[in-house]
Amino acid sequence: MTETITTAAIAAHRLDVGYPVRGGTLRVLEGLDLDVAPGEFLTIVGPSGCGKSTLLRVLADLVPPLAGSVTVLGEPPAVVRARREVAFVFQDATLLPWRTVRENVALPLAVGPRGARDAAHAGEIDALLTMVGLDGLADRYPSQLSGGQRQRVAIARALLCKPRVLLMDEPFGALDEITRDRLNDELLALWRRTGTTILFVTHAILEAVYLGERVLVLAANPGRVRELVDLRAAKERGTCPRESPALVEAMARVRAALETC
Ligand code: ADP
Ligand code: MG
Repeated sequence: MTETITTAAIAAHRLDVGYPVRGGTLRVLEGLDLDVAPGEFLTIVGPSGCGKSTLLRVLADLVPPLAGSVTVLGEPPAVVRARREVAFVFQDATLLPWRTVRENVALPLAVGPRGARDAAHAGEIDALLTMVGLDGLADRYPSQLSGGQRQRVAIARALLCKPRVLLMDEPFGALDEITRDRLNDELLALWRRTGTTILFVTHAILEAVYLGERVLVLAANPGRVRELVDLRAAKERGTCPRESPALVEAMARVRAALETC
């Protein structure tokens, strides 16, 4: 029989997540429902501490849910993690200072079960460095790079195992606005080329509406879905300019939703 239902890239239903703390459990997310389509670009905003990073950690199998269900590519997060189909990029590039750019990008190969295949991937690493705009910098050390270049290394490293889901936690939050705008455009181009499902947490409302096909606004205490702003119709024929009426209107909706969080 033909499978007619497309499996969601991410499906969370009545998801509760918390952390063990002295004397009990700190509830962070409560009753969260979320479906993300394969290849979707979802951005996530919400007040500090509402559980944005926690949500990504659950999807990456770094934190177990307390209750409810969550699947990534139709499987429990642990299965997808073991297959290396999900990758994480943090605000701080988390590069090893004593390793060169090339060695930092190759890190997942060195620490994982595929360690023996390093050599075979040398050409791939060069191609990745070109893709993220780091041509000619392969032998530099992190201290010899700008903040934007370090984030590009982190993105290249995340892409090495060709993840189907990319989780990005405020990856450009520490960068100046011009660098951030440029990296936003590069990320969009990369997303279009690869069809990767991307979940991207940000504090910047403009960045959220510019990148996302949908913007998820989370409320705090407990963390839950406040609103999903859908920009897919406006972006049907490609990216909207930052000053376009559709994005200005979406920003107002996101801001209004945040005010009630
Ligand atoms: P956000 O990314 O939206 O700012 P987080 O997901 O990092 O929020 O954190 C949500 C809540 O969970 C916060 O109150 C934070 O203090 C708490 N928290 C995060 N990590 C832990 C942990 N390992 N142990 C206990 N509490 C935590
Ligand atoms: Mg966070």
